[in-house]
Amino acid sequence: MEKGKVYLVGAGPGNPKLITLYGMECIQKADVIAYDRLISKELLQYAKKDAELIYCGKEPGKHAQIQEQIHQLLVEKALQGKIVTRLKGGDPCVFGRAGEEAEVLAKHHIPFEIVPGVTAGIAAAAYAGIPVTHREYASAVTIVAGHRKKGKEHINWEALAKGSDTIVFYMGISNLDDICESLMAYGKSPHTPVAIVEWGTTNEQRTVVGDLATIVEKAKQANISCPAVVIVGQVVKLREKINWFVEQFEPAYT
Ligand code: SAH
Repeated sequence: MEKGKVYLVGAGPGNPKLITLYGMECIQKADVIAYDRLISKELLQYAKKDAELIYCGKEPGKHAQIQEQIHQLLVEKALQGKIVTRLKGGDPCVFGRAGEEAEVLAKHHIPFEIVPGVTAGIAAAAYAGIPVTHREYASAVTIVAGHRKKGKEHINWEALAKGSDTIVFYMGISNLDDICESLMAYGKSPHTPVAIVEWGTTNEQRTVVGDLATIVEKAKQANISCPAVVIVGQVVKLREKINWFVEQFEPAYT
């Protein structure tokens, strides 16, 4: 039997309209859609009527085991000759494990494509009136996974604090106090502006703004939880001028 093909597709940051045209085509032509937790479920209505929809969301602590099963699923379905769309939130290569899945597919000689998506950190920032770069305020931006506990992370805090104008942390909410402390310990001013955007680009978007010294308390007060990105840097101030998206829920501190 002829092998199928796997598309590793970015579904965009939450608002279903922010998927790419090619991403949408991959949904429409798929025999199997293996989708993650944070994708907009509205996108699934564009699948073929007889497409097999498989939820691949991960519960905390079970990641490794489930990732193995996902690899197996992609390989099996493709070997049955199926078109498989692996749908992930944001961009598949930004903390999306597309690299690992592509490695497995390559090892089994299964044809695949990577279809980039709009990543949550950049999109959520834009929807909060924060451009991650700006000619006057930031010519470098760093994307960081913030979920590792202090001492166990592989983050070069010194380089980060000194070298990057804008820093965007994904998966950083449970570690917010460590993140702020570490940046200040390595020289970032406590007055450095910080924004947290929860459920960015969706109707549930909420934004909290403060600085490195105050944001932990503000996030606690607002009861901010996942999914959310933390944006650190002077670009956050631009929100005062160019915030354009009307949030329906409190708090929208400016
Ligand atoms: N591949 C994804 C990231 C997956 S990691 C991408 O490119 O966007 C999951 C993390 O992404 C969450 O913990 C959160 O930090 C961030 N995230 C995903 N969707 C988000 C959203 N709508 N608003 C804010 N942050 C989001």
